[in-house]
Amino acid sequence: MTTKRITSVETEVECPRCGEPSSVAVPDGSEISVRSTVAAFGDHETVTCSRGHRYWVYSC
Ligand SMILES: [Zn+2]
Repeated sequence: MTTKRITSVETEVECPRCGEPSSVAVPDGSEISVRSTVAAFGDHETVTCSRGHRYWVYSC
């Protein structure tokens, strides 16, 4: 029996609309992409920048 451990790391992303940096926690070792539209699949975090823009960070 194996135990799967997922660790999260804080990484910095930029708002696609204004470039404002925000930090988001993503699974360690995953590749992330920033989208300004939501997709109905994949692991993602919703981020709201300090100027109120909402975007999505996908990890895979
Ligand atoms: Zn923004």
